[in-house]
Amino acid sequence: MFKRTFVALALSWLIAIAPITSLSQTVIKMPKNKYPISKDIELGRQASGEVEKVFPVVNDRDAQRYLDNIGRRLVAATPSQFRHPEFGYSFKIVHVSDLNAFALPAGYMYVNSGLIMAAKNEGELVGVMAHELIHVQLRHATAQATSMNNPWKQILGIGSVLGGAVLGGVTGVGAEAGAQLGQVFAAGYFTRYSRKAEKEADLVGAQIMATANYDPEDLANMFRTIAASGGDHPPEWLSSHPDPGNRYNYILQERRSLRISPNAIRDTNEFQRVKRRLQALPKAKSMAQIEQEMKNQQGQSQTAGGKYSSDVPLPSGRMRAYSGGEWISLNIPDNWKDFPSQTEVQLAPEGAYGDQGITHGAMIGVSKGHQGATLEQESEEYVNGVLQGNSYLSRQSNYQRATLSGRNALAILLSGRSPVTGRTERVTIYTTQLRNGDVFSFITVVPENEESRYRGTFNSIMSSIRLRD
Ligand SMILES: [Zn+2]
Repeated sequence: MFKRTFVALALSWLIAIAPITSLSQTVIKMPKNKYPISKDIELGRQASGEVEKVFPVVNDRDAQRYLDNIGRRLVAATPSQFRHPEFGYSFKIVHVSDLNAFALPAGYMYVNSGLIMAAKNEGELVGVMAHELIHVQLRHATAQATSMNNPWKQILGIGSVLGGAVLGGVTGVGAEAGAQLGQVFAAGYFTRYSRKAEKEADLVGAQIMATANYDPEDLANMFRTIAASGGDHPPEWLSSHPDPGNRYNYILQERRSLRISPNAIRDTNEFQRVKRRLQALPKAKSMAQIEQEMKNQQGQSQTAGGKYSSDVPLPSGRMRAYSGGEWISLNIPDNWKDFPSQTEVQLAPEGAYGDQGITHGAMIGVSKGHQGATLEQESEEYVNGVLQGNSYLSRQSNYQRATLSGRNALAILLSGRSPVTGRTERVTIYTTQLRNGDVFSFITVVPENEESRYRGTFNSIMSSIRLRD
């Protein structure tokens, strides 16, 4: 009798206890990090300076005050061991159309106007901000670098490494100088967080939302809003913040362990007012467009020393080897010069380059890829960027299959009246994917009425390209 009672009691204890343990909130510890806090501060400060040179910060006091207010409340809601009083948190809106937000080490957070306009309510905006804030507070950028063999490659992103150090290394542009473009995209856009970091940011993000009187369900909902915005193209935000799997469900699971106020804020008049103010601004540019314009500017500054001529010498029949470090080599006519910038190299003869880029020649380049994207999707994104940055061009063909360095590639023909030569220009873009998911492009440029004289040269350059990434 006594024994049976004991068993029954033990069972009831189990029954009573089990749901409670499964409903306690997940405890996250600071990840291992061998870098001092000052490294986060230094990285964040440098990168934020670059970011603000590239992305237009919205100058609207009302909207700014609104975002500051949310940011401050979220910081106050974080566990004190994550708060790092040395961090100088700032929250800014950048006028960019993509649904994206990013935060640099030490708390420089940028939210795209496109994301605010797409968020269904304040809770969804707060969800993304909470998630970004936790990446900063858990120091995920430097923590991730801690577990890498070559941390700076990771922090600065492979894009800047290819662009700045590898291409630049051969031609004398040091990695340091190469950081300009690389770092901007690196710091926010090129950091691909690990799945572990993503889950931590989701879970602690949900916890601080509840503390700040929001409902973490809106964090889960925001991921759906972002995913739905991409159409058939994976949105940029999901590319740098990959879904660890089951994201929506585990956030709702975590939510069950949290105390959600019955008066939790879902939406506010202020949010809707800020949204209207942003909608009233001139149309925002996309990331791809801004990136392309920067590349154009950089390309043009590299070639600015040249003078355009109506008498451009034909490509020499003799070729010379050109290499961008270990990972790429190709042959170009020996009367062509090379103009490397951070993410591309322009190749052109005398008389065909100047302050508006090249009129005859070729280009090779590397752009950031999107996780999980197909070659078709990447090519479309890249070509759109080129079209947005060179408004005189338009598509003349569909994509054709091609081969670049033994890999599947796509080719498309663009043309339009060149503002430099006044003649119809043919631009052919070949794209393929690198092993890390980035996009390699090879572009040929020539006036239409000279195309037949360049065809052989373009073919031999293309067949000489070797990628060893
Ligand atoms: Zn993330």
